[in-house]
Amino acid sequence: MLIAGSRRPGLDRISIIDPSTEQVIGSVAKASAADLDEALAAAEAGFRFWKREATAKRAEVLIRAASLLRERIDEIATDLTREQGRVLAQSRLEIALCAETFEWFAGEALRNYGRILPARIAGARQMVVPEPIGPVVALTPWNFPALLAARKIAPAIAAGCSVILKPAEETPACAFALGQALLDAGLPKEVLSIVFGDPGQISSHLIDSAVIRKITFTGSVPVGKLLAAQAGRHAKPCTLELGGHAPVIVAEDADVAAAAAISAIGKTRNAGQVCTSPTRFYVQQRIRDEFVERFAANLNGITVGDGLDPSSDMGALANERRLLAMQDIVNDARSRGAEVVTGGNRIGNRGYFFQPTLLTSVAGDALAMQTEPFGPIAIVSTFDDLDEGIALANQSPVGLAGYAFTRSAGTAVRLQEELEVGMVGINSFAVSHTEAPFGGVKDSGYGYEGGLEGFAGYVHHKYVNHVGG
Ligand code: NAD
Repeated sequence: MLIAGSRRPGLDRISIIDPSTEQVIGSVAKASAADLDEALAAAEAGFRFWKREATAKRAEVLIRAASLLRERIDEIATDLTREQGRVLAQSRLEIALCAETFEWFAGEALRNYGRILPARIAGARQMVVPEPIGPVVALTPWNFPALLAARKIAPAIAAGCSVILKPAEETPACAFALGQALLDAGLPKEVLSIVFGDPGQISSHLIDSAVIRKITFTGSVPVGKLLAAQAGRHAKPCTLELGGHAPVIVAEDADVAAAAAISAIGKTRNAGQVCTSPTRFYVQQRIRDEFVERFAANLNGITVGDGLDPSSDMGALANERRLLAMQDIVNDARSRGAEVVTGGNRIGNRGYFFQPTLLTSVAGDALAMQTEPFGPIAIVSTFDDLDEGIALANQSPVGLAGYAFTRSAGTAVRLQEELEVGMVGINSFAVSHTEAPFGGVKDSGYGYEGGLEGFAGYVHHKYVNHVGG
């Protein structure tokens, strides 16, 4: 743990497992209630002075931390791959994106403008003054353990908030490295604490504390709803980035070869453990066979192996839970009549490796259709006309990302308007950019990360009506 600048070993520790080898590679501290109280006291003290700190100083700290991350990228990315399993090139990209995120929000610190309103009474000054919302609790998962933390810490710190970060216990090192880079860059030690332990105990303790004014969480839908209910008891605002189950409409006018190739890369990125991962492919009837054949061939061409081996395209799943979930999803689909076109099995018997998998003829009530696989499993179904494709895409209770492949501008516009999701990619799966809002609708949560909208989640707008004096 890192509390008020001091590293704490904790009384109790949790083992960390390398998902490629199943070896224990380290351990992380478990916070006690006393540790959490110290982190709260630091956050309270830190907020008192950080909110008054010059914005130029806040920006300077973030920019310096970004260059430290770039200097340390080899070490941090290697740790990320060892803890999380994904291929090293993707870990390096994640750390580079953390640096970009720090820099982008450093800019926002300087552009955090208020407004002067036209005065209703002569001589009055009516102003809208942005203020940091207060001490923040940030709870982040293991799938992008550095970037998802950076997307919360950077706008909070830029706005003048203090933060208590609880990263996933399975992937502590890179979140810790972000904190270390910020402290080395001159962030006052009270402004950021990092704690690990029992997630339920930590979130309850921190959300219930009067010190905390904002909760931001990325993770599963059930946990998000639980945290929102806890926060609701205290009327505290939340940002919730929860799961997805992304639909992909492949229209008959699409470039089928390109769509199939991009889909295999998109589906296997981070072994499918991405909340925007493309999963439910709805393909127009006329091109269905060609798409399935090409998609399967492209998935078969993905080399699965240790993330540290440069010849691997896809690494291990991050933990044993995901491996078991993949096996359950495939067995359940098979038992309901699905065809496994390719994949469907664990690879080897050491490390959590699973084959890129394509299922067809999947029943509507199958697990694969009902829950986000959060792994390298894609489903192909068909539709006749666009109305049917849109209805199928929108039948999910979640709405994070949605995609379409088409060469028709008219179809693209219609899908952009009608897909019930927070982000739409047309002929592309890239929907997460530092400068753009990222957030879902329906059960996928509320609030944004990234862009001006992400920054706004950490700002309160105080209205001042100053008459006379
Ligand atoms: P989980 O729901 O147990 O945990 C998800 C995250 O929430 C973890 O980081 C965990 O430490 C934290 N968490 C769990 N209970 C908590 C609590 N009471 N208070 C605070 N934090 C808590 O799920 P999991 O097994 O890690 O993953 C299962 C599913 O969650 C995945 O299949 C996926 O659907 C979803 N998920 C989504 C994202 C995302 O980016 N939106 C990330 C990770 C997991």
